[in-house]
Amino acid sequence: MNYDVIIVGGGPAGFTAGIYVARAMYKAIIVEKSVPGGQVAISDIVDNYTGFIEITGSELSQKMLEHVMKFDVPIEYSEVVEIWKEDKTFYVKLIDDRILTSKALIVATGASPRKLNVKGEAEFYGRGVSYCAVCDGAFFKNKVVAVVGGGDSAFTEGLYLSNIVSKLYLIHRREQFRAQPIYVERLKQRQNTEFILNSVVKEIIGEKKVSDIILENLKTGEISSLRVDGIFIYIGMVPQNQILRNFKELKYDENGFVIADETTRTEIEGLFVAGDLRSKHLRQITTAVSDGAYAGTMAVEYIQNNF
Ligand code: NAP
Repeated sequence: MNYDVIIVGGGPAGFTAGIYVARAMYKAIIVEKSVPGGQVAISDIVDNYTGFIEITGSELSQKMLEHVMKFDVPIEYSEVVEIWKEDKTFYVKLIDDRILTSKALIVATGASPRKLNVKGEAEFYGRGVSYCAVCDGAFFKNKVVAVVGGGDSAFTEGLYLSNIVSKLYLIHRREQFRAQPIYVERLKQRQNTEFILNSVVKEIIGEKKVSDIILENLKTGEISSLRVDGIFIYIGMVPQNQILRNFKELKYDENGFVIADETTRTEIEGLFVAGDLRSKHLRQITTAVSDGAYAGTMAVEYIQNNF
């Protein structure tokens, strides 16, 4: 065995799991394919993580990373391409063909932005179409942008963008929002922001970069064109569940998130699913960290009882 526990995903859930495994004196490794901190690293301000009244997502990710490093949990920056289990051993194959093995496995790969799937979206990605305000917002200083969605992400990232752009349109397909009312109120107060409700984006158009979006009003059927320099799409997340494909016994909810109880245990002995990838009602940093604590603890208990 290389490790007691392999943790796939270096966001709040994976990091917390690593800390819990290391504090129990077991040998863990975290495998992260891109940015440490996951979604948090590309979020603007976090103001609902207890103990941090207001902190930027990048700062909080950095603090989490330092915490993991203090407990000497190694982080392997690589992509996992396949996972399987033989007898009681988990095999984790990396993109460079190396194979790590462990007694228990925690998968905390989170979720990635859902696409609108409209004409122009893929074509203008990076040329006006974005899924990350913190990454790309600065390119839209004093420009006109649309934010699509009615959840927390659309509003928190809309708040961030409204400080940069000259005009922001919040486009949502209904009149009610999923976002927490405090965020809705804050964005409503912004002078340069206008809500376009009951509307969906039908097409993104431009030449070299985005110049307009075509909207359909779902109540009246009216089709209109809106001049924008950029469009930020925040219409929810799709689970990063592909690496679990070999585990046929796993159960998923209707959106593809893995069903596990709050202890993060799954149908597969020794496999735990933590964070946004787990089917749950509330996806927050706090709930991801909670999952990580459970997953780390349960993985250690599993090893103690089975090896
Ligand atoms: P979300 O809560 O699932 O909201 C997605 C929004 O996009 C909904 O308003 C939905 O409309 C809309 N939508 C979905 N598919 C669409 C489509 N094809 N066309 C147009 N609109 C579409 O997703 P999220 O905002 O990305 O948030 C993900 C999770 O992270 C949530 O649990 C959220 O609470 C959490 N989060 C928390 C914070 C925070 O606490 N600070 C910040 C960011 C995210 P309908 O409402 O009509 O379905």
